[in-house]
Amino acid sequence: MFRYIVAASLLTAASAIPAQINHSPLVDPKVAALRDAALNGDQYAWDITEGLTTEVGPRLAGTEAEARARDWAVKKLTEMGFANVRVEPFDMPVWVRGRESAEILAPFPQPVVIAALGNSGSSGPEGVTGEIVAFDSVDALRAAADDLVRGKIVFVDHAMPANQDGSGYGQFGAPRRQGPTIASKKGALAIVVRSIGTDKNRTPHTGAMSFDDGARPIPAGALSNPDADQLLRILKRGQPVRMKLVLESQNLGTRQSGNVIAEVPGRDATLPPILVSGHLDSWDQGTGAIDDASGVAIAAAAAKRIMDAGRPLRTIRIVWFGAEEMGLFGGLAYRAAHGKEPHHALIESDFGADKIWKFDSKLGEARKTEAEAIGKALAPLGIVTGSFTEAEGSDIGPMLSDGHFGVTLNQDGTRYFDLHHTSNDTLDKVDPAQLRQNVAAWTTVVAILSGGIEEPKARKRR
Ligand SMILES: [Zn+2]
Repeated sequence: MFRYIVAASLLTAASAIPAQINHSPLVDPKVAALRDAALNGDQYAWDITEGLTTEVGPRLAGTEAEARARDWAVKKLTEMGFANVRVEPFDMPVWVRGRESAEILAPFPQPVVIAALGNSGSSGPEGVTGEIVAFDSVDALRAAADDLVRGKIVFVDHAMPANQDGSGYGQFGAPRRQGPTIASKKGALAIVVRSIGTDKNRTPHTGAMSFDDGARPIPAGALSNPDADQLLRILKRGQPVRMKLVLESQNLGTRQSGNVIAEVPGRDATLPPILVSGHLDSWDQGTGAIDDASGVAIAAAAAKRIMDAGRPLRTIRIVWFGAEEMGLFGGLAYRAAHGKEPHHALIESDFGADKIWKFDSKLGEARKTEAEAIGKALAPLGIVTGSFTEAEGSDIGPMLSDGHFGVTLNQDGTRYFDLHHTSNDTLDKVDPAQLRQNVAAWTTVVAILSGGIEEPKARKRR
């Protein structure tokens, strides 16, 4: 059935082609060799992940730490031999975390563990104290009478499950993304949400939110999952619960961030480039190993492996986006500068470094054969072919929505949200073997998209 549809649609697109040549393309042995070499021996991705997380550490958007990461990136990409290494700067509003703590004052006094959400208002050093009003969802908060919420500290709960495809994040992220604005507009003193995470550790998950529609910034934080459980048990005892919150965040005004760009020049400079990417910034508590040092590493490692093999027909453009976490500033800046230029495909790695299990693409009907060839070459890595009409990515998302072509290599996200945006996002969470599988998949995809790699004459041998 599936094959029939493929053949039929190809015939519609080019009716001169006889049906019998529409069988699945074979895997190019050169591509297979590149894939297998990456799987068995890639060191580039580990070196970048280890280096960035060790020598720079946390890299909050727009801060001095992110600027050091850009300097590190320029040096590293230059040393690796890439061409046209440069920074494309842009401005952004910068927010930084301050001192943060939370404590239940009554009926059972005890500290709980909290992290401020990105863009949280400040409680000032003296903090805010109020009675908790609890909701089991952001919809329940939205439906509540203002009187119930005014002058109180809102708590929003949820129950996010761990899924392979990370699909809970959109839905269960609502308390973090929308909760603060709703609570503020109803006159709340502050808001605490259950962490948007799937672990049972006392590590709260931060993440960005914004106060929309002129809502007044109020302190907004995430409790770790065990602390949210504890708060629920206390609430269930039926007595009024009072909490004190200190979240001393600060807005530093407009500062500079930037995208770091490097290229493997193609043999034909007139052809649209393939954009391979990840984001350079990270949250400030961990060292941003899975989010997203491993992502920038995978993208650059694949490009480097192609460059080592020879010259691709098309240019491969590496983009290490700045300021993804605080609101896709890097992706939007790249779109403003280059969004009107054609790109052969956009790819981003921003979902950790566990095994890639599914390949999705949006390369257009005319390039279905190319997409099928990629799927076939990825199959030995344990990767299934998913959609031919969908691709996604954080920074590249706006350009994909504009109609650009793209590919998504979906990592297994089962444990991603145990670590995401916590102090536990550190290098030890990256599994070198799974990281190599990522590089193998990316190298395969980029090799096929590159239009063919020509070995340098001096090194040509059989
Ligand atoms: Zn990320």
